[in-house]
Amino acid sequence: MNVWGYWKCESCGTVNRGDVKHCPNCAAPIPPGTKFFIDPNQIEQVSKDQESKEANWICEYCNAQNSAADQVCRNCASLKSVATMDYFGNDPNQPQEPGGGAKAQGNAGAGGGAGGDPGNPGNPGDPGSPGSPGYGGYGGSGGSGGYGGNGGSGGDGGIGAVGSFASGARPAKKKKKGGVIGAIIGFILIAICCCGLLKFFWPVTKESNITGFGWERSIAVDEYKESRESDWSMPSGATLISSSEEIRSYDHVLDHYEEKSREVAVQVQDGYRTEYRDLGNGQFEEYEVPVYKTEYKTEYYQDPVYVDVPVYDTKYYYSIGRWQRVSSINTSGNDQNPYWGETKGMTEHGGDGDKSISYGTKALGSRSEKYWVTVEDKKGKVQKVEYSYEEWTLLKLNQSIQYKTFWFSNDPID
Ligand SMILES: [Zn+2]
Ligand SMILES: [Zn+2]
Repeated sequence: MNVWGYWKCESCGTVNRGDVKHCPNCAAPIPPGTKFFIDPNQIEQVSKDQESKEANWICEYCNAQNSAADQVCRNCASLKSVATMDYFGNDPNQPQEPGGGAKAQGNAGAGGGAGGDPGNPGNPGDPGSPGSPGYGGYGGSGGSGGYGGNGGSGGDGGIGAVGSFASGARPAKKKKKGGVIGAIIGFILIAICCCGLLKFFWPVTKESNITGFGWERSIAVDEYKESRESDWSMPSGATLISSSEEIRSYDHVLDHYEEKSREVAVQVQDGYRTEYRDLGNGQFEEYEVPVYKTEYKTEYYQDPVYVDVPVYDTKYYYSIGRWQRVSSINTSGNDQNPYWGETKGMTEHGGDGDKSISYGTKALGSRSEKYWVTVEDKKGKVQKVEYSYEEWTLLKLNQSIQYKTFWFSNDPID
């Protein structure tokens, strides 16, 4: 259904119905930039035989608006065939896609209606130059003066929406940019701090002359002792004392479901809203847009409930012989002639769990050794620098060596 739009005479301010091509008050034709608008208080249906979806064309010579059916300008008799622009900025001599243009306008209108400025009685003036032919789709139903809760008619809203989107998007971008710059600055500051810390903890190499030597050697003396232990399996060489079934772990098992409820938001259609699409010929197409509202529903669902089920296994309690350190044979010196201590006929032992060995038996365990040179730093403080045995035996007194340390310290790093 089409309803009549209106236009306001630029010269005298008279409001005229869309099918009036010359102001009855001052005889001025509809100027080219004029946009039709809807008067919500005066919705008047267009009779079926007057209904048209074709936009007015703009006279190339006098700029007057003419109906699509007019082949010559009603104002100056100039030909429609030489006109280049219609109400929406399209070529009036090119057949418009049936319904295509209207659809595009509809979309623009819907966008404008939603994003735009409800309650603002649209400006019947010029919201966007319908000038350039490229403007096409948008120019669409431009400027009809969207109004009120209806979300306006088509394109005006559309143009408004485009405009406000663009202007709204720019500060948002700036904000983002600011955030990125801030992040970069922050990152650089953190990097500088890290470099400072690195310098603090970065090892440096210092050089000194060897002032002395030192070494330490140690042989562990271990005793074979009974150890009482428990485990889920028995090591070899162990003697079982007892065993029992015990909880080894828990299985997380689904026991049952519990019915629970939650609130969920659903969009429910709540009637229709009437919108108007500027057809560019003084008429507006009326159409309905579904309106939705959010409702909250209680939704029931099955929530799984789990229980921890113990898993039993056999635990073994056993005794086993283990070699344990009781003392050590230590030797040390401040020369380059290291030797191992006297082992008094003891031999090295094997592994644990050897049933052929009686408890209380002593034998030799692991060996350890340490070799170093001493250096003096500038303050006369003696530092030890450790070496492997092979390197150490090659070093000479007063020889210059390099060692790693930190700039705030003289203690060598091993
Ligand atoms: Zn007038
Ligand atoms: Zn003309």
